[in-house]
Parts: sequence; C-alpha cells; structure tokens
Amino acid sequence: MRVGVLALQGAFREHILVFEALGASTVAVRLPEQMEGLDGLVLPGGESTAIAKLMRAYGFYEAIRGRLETGMAVWGTCAGAILMAREIGDARPDQEPLGLMDIVVRRNAYGRQVDSFEAPLHFRHIGEPYPGVFIRAPYIESVGEGVEVLAEHDGRIVAAREERLLATTFHPELTVDLRVHRFFIEQIVAVQ
Ligand code: GLN
Repeated sequence: MRVGVLALQGAFREHILVFEALGASTVAVRLPEQMEGLDGLVLPGGESTAIAKLMRAYGFYEAIRGRLETGMAVWGTCAGAILMAREIGDARPDQEPLGLMDIVVRRNAYGRQVDSFEAPLHFRHIGEPYPGVFIRAPYIESVGEGVEVLAEHDGRIVAAREERLLATTFHPELTVDLRVHRFFIEQIVAVQ
C-alpha cells in the first residue's frame, strides 16, 4: 500500500511520520506525476488559499480528479477538507474547491487563531473519545445524501466520509493517537 501526502504547504511532514509509524510506504507529493500508483492521498492542513494556488499552478486539480476515477482514496484534514468540498460556504470569488466530495464547508468557522481549541470527539467506528485538535478550523455545514457523518462537535459536523473520501476539520496528525490514520488505511484505502 502506498499513501501520498500533498507536500506543497502546511502540516504534511506530520502525516508522513504517522503513516510511516503505521508501516505504510509514504510519498511526499510535490508534482502530479508522483500520484501514479498511489492508493491514497492526503490533503493536509495549512492555508487553503495558498495550497489551492500552488495546486492550480502545478496542474493538481485535473490530476487529482483523474486519479479519483481510477480509485485513489483521498483524505483532507482542515484546509484539505476545505479543498475537497463541493462548495465553500463563504468563499471569496478566487477560491475554487476541488469539488470531490458532496459537502459544504465553512472556513474559519470558529473565529480567529485564538479560537483554536482541543475537544474530545466521539468518532464513529473508532470508539473511545478521540482528541480533536482544531486550528482555525472549518466545519462541515451540510452533507449530501451519500455522505456518512463520522463526528460532530457542538452540533456541527467535523468528520465525514463518502465512499473513498474522508474529510476531517481537525488535525489527527498533531496527536499521538493514530486511530484516524489507521481508519483511513484499513477502512478506506484498503477496501476496494
Ligand atoms: N483556516 C485555514 C484555511 O482556511 C485552515 C486552517 C488549518 O488547516 N489548520 O485554510
């Protein structure tokens, strides 16, 4: 199994370390060609406008949509979840999401940087409270019919899955708890 982590901007190193700890072979993806043969791809947290600009400059929009059709799984964390969305709730005109997943996401939904916080989450299929680290996090405003809600916080959706797509508005790569990464590998990437 090979998992790539988009390594243009943001918290990609942390994801790579977790996947390596779980024994998955991992690629830091800087060019679309590096997605060939990948079973899964992570769009990390960071700054969604910066990541989107770089993705467009390198031709990632078309390439990711193409690889999706050939079965690659995709997991977006925080900024990555914003990029996966069908729609960004309060988007500026220059912000076009990839439109991979049938979710509407609201950016910086909890306010400013100081409003970053940690909260225990009940994450479906994972069990015990999972430590959710929220950093200028978005939340998922609404989901389409085929989307399973996996976690909520304060009545707002913070994790969801649609077939081979996973979106989390928090940062599992910044905790020592490997269960969401394991869930992605075992329940999404490995299931064809
Ligand atoms: N607020 C950031 C954005 O809109 C996301 C923050 C994050 O990824 N931690 O891109």
